[in-house]
Amino acid sequence: MKADIAGISRLRIGVDGEGVTTLVAFMLCPLQCKYCLNPQTLSMSYPSKSYTPEELYAELKIDALYFLATGGGVTFGGGEPLLRAPFIAEFRSICGKEWKLNLETSLNVSRDLLETAAPCVDSFIVDIKDMNPETYASYTGGSNSGVLENLRYLVDAGRAESCVIKVPLIPGYNSKEAVEASMSALKSMGFNNFDKLKYKTEIHGKGKGNL
Ligand code: SF4
Repeated sequence: MKADIAGISRLRIGVDGEGVTTLVAFMLCPLQCKYCLNPQTLSMSYPSKSYTPEELYAELKIDALYFLATGGGVTFGGGEPLLRAPFIAEFRSICGKEWKLNLETSLNVSRDLLETAAPCVDSFIVDIKDMNPETYASYTGGSNSGVLENLRYLVDAGRAESCVIKVPLIPGYNSKEAVEASMSALKSMGFNNFDKLKYKTEIHGKGKGNL
């Protein structure tokens, strides 16, 4: 099993999970967000590198001491990491239980992929965009109906407290009131941990992002 990885960013603190983390950004995503943070992951023409789970573990274990000392670990992002759910499950079986594994995801994937990855990860950072279906479609080019079903799955599986939900202010697409409406809808579903942020519009298309 191999996965194309756009980049690996080491020794991150307080950015995408507890303790010291290493971000692994997978290629490809089902969405086309206008202000995508890592637009290079959306095109297979980007010079990515292909790894097996064993090869990735061999590259990341240089930071094992940092992970264990700080309660940190690996954050899988992208792109959409849940497209590589079997890879993540295999990686967990190789790295063992001591590393924290985090997923930075839109949840816009089929349920079977979420069910494969969820038992293998410790926390979820879910970028919800906006709960309003029209706003979501205009910003991402996709539907959020599957996202809502996957959010319900996480609540029913008792994983709501392991989720931080990003509720962004998206310039030109939503408003502060819309952000509050999204948070209210998410609270009524059972989510309590939120990250309110404002998207940076200038990043789009520059090929930099968070790698
Ligand atoms: S979900 Fe994330 S990776 Fe995918 S297009 Fe949107 S911002 Fe980019």
